[in-house]
Amino acid sequence: MKLHEYQAKEIFARYGIAVPQGRVVATAAEAESVAEGFGGRAVVKAQVHAGGRGKAGGVKVAQSAADAADAARGMLSASLVTNQTGPEGVPVNQVLVEELADIAKEMYLALTVDRVERCPVLLVSASGGMDIEEVAESSPESIHSEPIDPVLGLMPFQSRRIARRLGLEAGAAAAAPGLLSALYRVFVDNDCTLVEVNPLIVTGDGRLVALDAKISVDDDAMFRRPEMLALRDTTQEDELEAQAADLDIAYVNLDGDVGCLVNGAGLAMATLDVTSSVGAAPANFLDVGGGASVDKVASAVGIILSDPKVRRVLVNVFGGILRCDIAAEGIVQAYRNTGSGLPIVVRMLGTNVDDGKRILGESGLPVVFAETLSEAAEAIRRAG
Ligand code: GDP
Ligand code: MN
Repeated sequence: MKLHEYQAKEIFARYGIAVPQGRVVATAAEAESVAEGFGGRAVVKAQVHAGGRGKAGGVKVAQSAADAADAARGMLSASLVTNQTGPEGVPVNQVLVEELADIAKEMYLALTVDRVERCPVLLVSASGGMDIEEVAESSPESIHSEPIDPVLGLMPFQSRRIARRLGLEAGAAAAAPGLLSALYRVFVDNDCTLVEVNPLIVTGDGRLVALDAKISVDDDAMFRRPEMLALRDTTQEDELEAQAADLDIAYVNLDGDVGCLVNGAGLAMATLDVTSSVGAAPANFLDVGGGASVDKVASAVGIILSDPKVRRVLVNVFGGILRCDIAAEGIVQAYRNTGSGLPIVVRMLGTNVDDGKRILGESGLPVVFAETLSEAAEAIRRAG
């Protein structure tokens, strides 16, 4: 789950990390009055769950309170499209109005999990700011990666090494270890998968300030992070993914037109691979899970059918804990509820497979049965 910049900065502030003064608002009038409090000069920042705002008009420096109001009005009136959103963009419901920072140097800093080394890793670069993706592409050696032993935590020698790598001097170098260990505590205490500060700046008077803040919290830790769940903003999430999450269905929206209903994550991955290999493009990953009821299967199929890009449906069910007859009844229920006529290819094996096929066969749905996954993929390709 992603947090907004202003929420991440509130957490940073609680850990003693310097952030600019600011307030989040939902109207141009409020933006104007906050900017007035800063003497008129302020930066207005769209609060969306996507980066790349700076290059997309989502970060504007205002020279007067009236300017700030105009910037806020513009941002709040339209969705923001950045290189990290789809073409439809994300809605801007709030803007953060902050005092202007005096930037002497922009750096990049992130904490995430290194899945190969299986430990947290601190990534830093002296060339931070809006072009970090190009830096990573053209000169990856300029990004320093510091693995952190989860038992020892971030060691002082590592902080000093990072300060040197960033070319920090005097006061900023002295402040770096405190800042880095505070960021590491933010990462660990809150079950984060990402804490990113881009840019981390050195101000004209030599202070370190987190000018931007991004936090993602591990979804699998949410059961013990009720305070994080309270920060969730579903307006920023893919609508179908949010619906699926509420039903406890593992679902990821993809670009293709083949809606896929599968039980089991491994089988779902294999289904996507085989479907793609015959030149058909999956519209989603969906694992309905082991113990699904008729209603849950029907909800899952309902999500697939309500996706406007879906033109054909592929079902790959291995009847174990989820019986084939239950899956079949759920599919029929969803097709009846939605009145859908989309072609459906079904591969079913396992417990109660004959009942499952009979229920589907007698339902009048435009169903084609396949024995193997390759046959199913071929059949779905022909249905396109
Ligand atoms: P992002 O593009 O979504 O990552 O948004 P950022 O918060 O990183 O802002 C993008 C850029 O706007 C930063 O790299 C800065 O160069 C600039 N910026 C943000 N806040 C200020 C500020 O207070 N003063 C000045 N001069 N520039 C700012
Ligand atoms: Mn940024």
